[in-house]
This record gives sequence, C-alpha cells and structure tokens, in this order.
Amino acid sequence: MIDIGINFTDKAFGKDLSECISAAHAADVTKMIVTGTNIDSSQRAAQLSESHSDSLFSTVGVHPHHAKDWRPNDYETLKNLAKSDKVIAIGEAGLDFNRNFSPRNQQEAVFQFQIHLAIELNLPLFLHERDAHKRQRMILQEYSNDLPKTVIHCFTGDKTALFNYLDLGCHIGITGWVCDERRGKELQTLVKQIPKDRLMIETDGPYLLPRNIKPKPKSRRNEPKYLFHIANTIAQLRGETTEAFILQTTNNTKQFFSI
Ligand SMILES: [Zn+2]
Repeated sequence: MIDIGINFTDKAFGKDLSECISAAHAADVTKMIVTGTNIDSSQRAAQLSESHSDSLFSTVGVHPHHAKDWRPNDYETLKNLAKSDKVIAIGEAGLDFNRNFSPRNQQEAVFQFQIHLAIELNLPLFLHERDAHKRQRMILQEYSNDLPKTVIHCFTGDKTALFNYLDLGCHIGITGWVCDERRGKELQTLVKQIPKDRLMIETDGPYLLPRNIKPKPKSRRNEPKYLFHIANTIAQLRGETTEAFILQTTNNTKQFFSI
C-alpha cells in the first residue's frame, strides 16, 4: 500500500519517525507521501524524502490556512524544492472556508499561484478543500485546459462535490473519515460511486485515527501503519475484496504520481 498523505513534519512525529516508518513497512505500507503544508514544512518534507529515499516522497505547497503568510519569493522557493525527484506533487493547496484562518481572497491568490506552479512544472496538484467546493471548482475550471493531474485529498464533501470533481478529472483521496460511524455516513455511501481507477487512500496522520480499529490504540495519533483499516473499510463498502482494492489503489497511485 501507499499512503498518499502523511504529515510526518508534524511535531507528533518528532521523536520516533524511524519507528513509524518501520511499523508502516511491517504493516505492508511500502511508500508514504509526506505532505507539505507551508514553506518550512515543505522544506522539511522534501528533506525527509531525501533522507528516507526508499520509503518517502513528498509534496511541497502552502495549505490555505497558511495563505496569509505567503511572501512573493515563496513561488521560487517551492519551485526550487520541486526540482528534487523525490518531490512529486504541488500542495496541499486549495481553499478552506470552514475555518477561514486566512482571508478568502488571499487563499484564492495563493491557490492560483500553486496552480500556475504545477502547470509550469507539470506536476500533479495535491488539493485540500473544506466547505469551499463551489469556488474551488470554479477556479479549477478556469485552468481546465492546462491543468495537470489533480487529487482532492481527504475528500469529505457531498455527492454534488464528488461528481463535480470527478467531472473535472480529479482523483479522490479517502482517509479514515470513512471509518467514522457518525460523521462518515455520507462518505460511506459515496465511496461506492467513485470509479475504481480514480481512488487513492491516505491516513492524513496524525489526524483522523480510524475509529474502527480494535482494540482501540492507546495513542490517538494516527500513522501509516493503520492504512489497512481504511482500505479494508472501503473495500467492504464497495463489495470488493481487500486484496483487489489494495492492488487497484496502489496501481492508481503509482500511475498518478509516476512513482
Ligand atoms: Zn488537507
């Protein structure tokens, strides 16, 4: 399996990253893509992918929460980081109108800078979106002729959002949100409707520990070794064998990120 979204630059992994990677390998997670969320985290994500080159890749980008910190030379900084073979996507980039930690106009500007960068470098876009699907779709549509490959990571939207993103050609990343018996309900019905060649899986650790792990882990920290629980849940919902589902999503991921 490949975990397409793991926040290994988070302080939650400051002390035992190597152990987490070994535990992931023992749980059949062979590769992990470290998410860049701001300039500093992108630099560290790129470094990690270099220093653990047989296990890790990374994205580089600025999350909408950090759009307010964007400085004019950040475009060049991200572009330089993206020269590494281990950096395989731009993001996470997008809009988050749920918490609005950055003003909306700034989120939109920083999102568009990163779309330009992904187009310039012909790298996939690793997209975040929360409560902003209409606007995010409009912006993506403006670039639809030039857009590289796109994945909506940690998709948690409704049916309209899902089909609009699929129509735009997006891949869909599913996290342990789908394992949540309450707030994951809608997603549980939607995962059946995603074409099998558009699906990828991710933990988004340390966030979103799958709620159906038994026995319940002592720590609430989510990590790549739990990816199987997500794969297994989605496969059951889709009426597929877990083996076939894992094979399919792993192949999708290799193709999507050219790894
Ligand atoms: Zn995100």
